[in-house]
Amino acid sequence: MQDVRPVQAGVVEEWDLEADVVVAGYGIAGVCAAIEAARAGAEVLVLERTGGWGGAAALSGGWIYLGGGTALQRALGFDDTPEAMARFMSAALGPAADDARIGDYCAGSAGHYDWLVDCGVEFKPEFWSQPGWEVPHDEGLGYSGGENSAPFRADIPPAPRGHVPRMQGKRTGVRGAGYMLMRPLAETAESLGVRAEFDVRVSALVTGDGRIAGLRARRYGRDLTVRARRGVVLATGGFTYNADMVAAHAPRLAGRPAAAIEEHDGVSILMAQAVGAAVAHMDATEVAFFGDPQLLARGIVVNGRGQRFIAEDTYPGRIGQAVLLDQGNEAFLVIDEAGHDEGVATATSTPFFRQPPTWAAGSIAELEADMGLPAGALQGTVDMYNAYAECGEDPLLGKKREWLRPLRSPFAAFDMRGFTAGFTLGGLRCDLDGRVQHVAGGPIDGLYAAGRCTWGLASGGYASGTSLGDGSFYGRRAGAAAARRTSGDAEVPHA
Ligand SMILES: Cc1cc2nc3c(=O)[nH]c(=O)nc-3n(C[C@H](O)[C@H](O)[C@H](O)COP(=O)(O)OP(=O)(O)OC[C@H]3O[C@@H](n4cnc5c(N)ncnc54)[C@H](O)[C@@H]3O)c2cc1C
Repeated sequence: MQDVRPVQAGVVEEWDLEADVVVAGYGIAGVCAAIEAARAGAEVLVLERTGGWGGAAALSGGWIYLGGGTALQRALGFDDTPEAMARFMSAALGPAADDARIGDYCAGSAGHYDWLVDCGVEFKPEFWSQPGWEVPHDEGLGYSGGENSAPFRADIPPAPRGHVPRMQGKRTGVRGAGYMLMRPLAETAESLGVRAEFDVRVSALVTGDGRIAGLRARRYGRDLTVRARRGVVLATGGFTYNADMVAAHAPRLAGRPAAAIEEHDGVSILMAQAVGAAVAHMDATEVAFFGDPQLLARGIVVNGRGQRFIAEDTYPGRIGQAVLLDQGNEAFLVIDEAGHDEGVATATSTPFFRQPPTWAAGSIAELEADMGLPAGALQGTVDMYNAYAECGEDPLLGKKREWLRPLRSPFAAFDMRGFTAGFTLGGLRCDLDGRVQHVAGGPIDGLYAAGRCTWGLASGGYASGTSLGDGSFYGRRAGAAAARRTSGDAEVPHA
């Protein structure tokens, strides 16, 4: 690991680079910080470790969690309010969700959508109604957090809030929706005069006169010192690729495949901790589950004891969290031939998650024996599920009527033990202006942060789009606040 201890400004003989606002990391949080800092009149420099802008954001599925009545929601006929959105997020993203942050985000969400559109991000006014990890084509709106499923739909008016930038010839990871989000934003930053230096890896903060004065970085084997006249914005992503930090804070992700990029090594968190920064919810993780949602919804998902534990038609990330965090990473999908064939025939967004079944059998008794379950365990689950499904009900877990049908022979089961991957959600504790908070309380003068190096909207639960959502929203806030900061003006109220 690099030396993250702060450097005293007094020992810096010459600054190699300088600007009013220096942003570390050119992904979603960094680009939005850079745009707003430049619009606020600051000279902005972005330092990026790799050879170009993008980060995990450019490789991502592009879901952005927005609502409260965005122009796209309205165009597609969906009613939503900031209050309904906040109720859902508080219920789904906890425990201990930050209601003040969620309320703030929801109040500004429709305006944030307009801001993205003004920057050139395009959204196609078409709704994708099916369960899936991603939209299959270039649809602009879909459910991305289980809003229309149990346990939320009973009490909170559901609305689709997953907004997806329009892409052409969808290829996830290669110029997919995440790239179509990042490209216009990077072009906007460039048009505003934002300077970027690539292949520059930041490793420590420079402190002086009781404030953050800049950064130390390294390029091509040479150390650089970079002066930030007004402020530093940290935006280098989470700590999924730092094995020591994962082991210490989020051990259930240890050894799992990472849904992140290797540059997410936690350096911003460590650099800021080295100057006294507070962190929060370091154990929170997003969890992906490698199951085809079209098949999950048509079958039943059971644990290592043959019992159901979640409504199978919900957001698959919620299933992933339940499997990894509550069920010891053990899950099996049980489905009948009719459901399997129907699911496979349906246009779906994630065919690459489809595997052939592990076992097939004419009876549940035979299937549970093949699966190594105690006799009668799965039989009891299927008998109860079928009895209620006959009447279109699922009193145990609340799966929607449209997916309820008794399972009939022949049956199949998929071994989905260990089918999870994830990324970290905890990080630096910031106020609503992105000002990094000291462990003793109050902001660290001149230090701002956004994106997955911070604790954002999700404190435990997750909905797809909340990372690009809080990264872009609070990246803007952090950039604007850093640009407004002048010497001796540490207390900047948020707009
Ligand atoms: C396959 C995949 C699909 C995803 N789909 C979604 C989705 O649909 N919706 C959603 O909300 N989230 C999604 N995510 C998660 C999301 O992409 C990230 O959480 C988000 O991009 C984090 O934003 P960020 O700005 O913190 O980090 P990034 O966007 O990764 O940007 C961080 C930047 O900092 C740079 N950097 C790192 N270290 C240094 C250093 N020392 N010095 C200088 N620069 C550095 C990195 O190279 C990178 O460019 C997905 C992730 C993956 C991997």
